[in-house]
Amino acid sequence: MTTSDTLSTAHLFALPPEIEEFRASARAFAERDVAPLVEEAEHTGTFPLSLFRRAGDQGLLGLQFDMEWGGSEAGLLADMVFREEVSRVCAGIAAGLGIQGQIGTAYLARYGSDEQKARWLRPAIAGELITAWGLTEPDAGSDVRSIRTTVRPDGDGFVLNGRKTFITNGPIAGVVGVVAKQGEDRFAVFMVEASDPGYSVERTLNKLGCRSSQVGELVFDNVRLDESRRISPPEGSTIDAILDVLIRGRVLIAAAALGVAGAAFDLGLQYAKDRRAFGKPIGKFQEISMKFAEADARIAAARLLTYRAAVLCDSTDSVPIRECAQAKLIASETALWVVDQMMRVFGGMGFMAESTIERLYRDVRYFQIVEGTTEIQHRILAKAVGL
Ligand SMILES: Cc1cc2nc3c(=O)[nH]c(=O)nc-3n(C[C@H](O)[C@H](O)[C@H](O)COP(=O)(O)OP(=O)(O)OC[C@H]3O[C@@H](n4cnc5c(N)ncnc54)[C@H](O)[C@@H]3O)c2cc1C
Repeated sequence: MTTSDTLSTAHLFALPPEIEEFRASARAFAERDVAPLVEEAEHTGTFPLSLFRRAGDQGLLGLQFDMEWGGSEAGLLADMVFREEVSRVCAGIAAGLGIQGQIGTAYLARYGSDEQKARWLRPAIAGELITAWGLTEPDAGSDVRSIRTTVRPDGDGFVLNGRKTFITNGPIAGVVGVVAKQGEDRFAVFMVEASDPGYSVERTLNKLGCRSSQVGELVFDNVRLDESRRISPPEGSTIDAILDVLIRGRVLIAAAALGVAGAAFDLGLQYAKDRRAFGKPIGKFQEISMKFAEADARIAAARLLTYRAAVLCDSTDSVPIRECAQAKLIASETALWVVDQMMRVFGGMGFMAESTIERLYRDVRYFQIVEGTTEIQHRILAKAVGL
């Protein structure tokens, strides 16, 4: 099936009305529940934990998941809108909440048994259990196949050893999906609970941006786990199943980047109208107005790519690797460009910690790194065109 077969024209150029309606509730959540907490959360580098429950109560953490487990089956497109709207208000909080609805739970939702879903997915969707996903290690990020965390059979269970780093929600999570190697080339995912002996959060990391998301380094020292903790895809390789989840997650990173780009654009536009120099609003100078013209077009292009990737993810079983990479690459780089341009519009005020654009300038660096760096997206796309 080709791309043009899969997408209706309506989907290409506008979101379905029910998704636009959902945007209103996602925006209301972001403005009413998230916005008042941003300043303190960013200042202290602490995620406002009550938000998990509030988001869960409003059905915002299980948008992609089955109703049987408390989800709404609204799809990745709805989750994309949710991520964009929360990120517009705070990228750090969007990152923490976002883990809960995607990489922290998506593998479990897809491949877990009913018993496993009842134990971790249902409470995660309700916002009662915080989740994290542990793949990256001090010596293995982009090169996921070279991770060193190991799991080995021992008696009637398993023993897990290793270290994970840069793990979002790690310091606050009740359960972490940990990717380990079982033997030379075999991968496995085990659910590790915060109370498991041998598991510890070694440190919470201090970051440039997205400061309200809590990111940490986790240690697994002879953690004993039984079979009930292992999540296995019924067929195919575990590493391919893991990568499928990560690839779809790129759409949500693109959406979050769009949220930051939109926020920066709106702030800059208002400033360009209000700030006067040489007797007129600065927006009347061609050098300033061109920035908005260019940003408007770039954001629209990134938005269309992101919507297309989300629609494809929702409508086909095969993973749209190329379209997800295009969306992630263009949206994350567009956001970086837009925020940089808007910083210039703010002049000296943009450099001051008291201005919101200063936070966006720090936060926007997140998007070119996570779920595959810009260089990794370049590699994927170069391969897709036959190089
Ligand atoms: C704030 C934050 C939150 C995160 N949250 C999580 C999380 O929740 N769970 C998790 O598992 N991980 C998480 N990560 C880790 C993130 O996914 C990795 O940082 C990312 O995949 C890059 O890996 P790395 O940092 O090891 O960089 P490296 O892989 O060491 O890359 C370093 C540089 O080399 C480039 N490079 C590497 N390989 C190639 C190549 N083949 N070709 C060209 N260039 C290449 C990269 O693009 C980059 O520029 C998080 C990271 C951050 C910053």
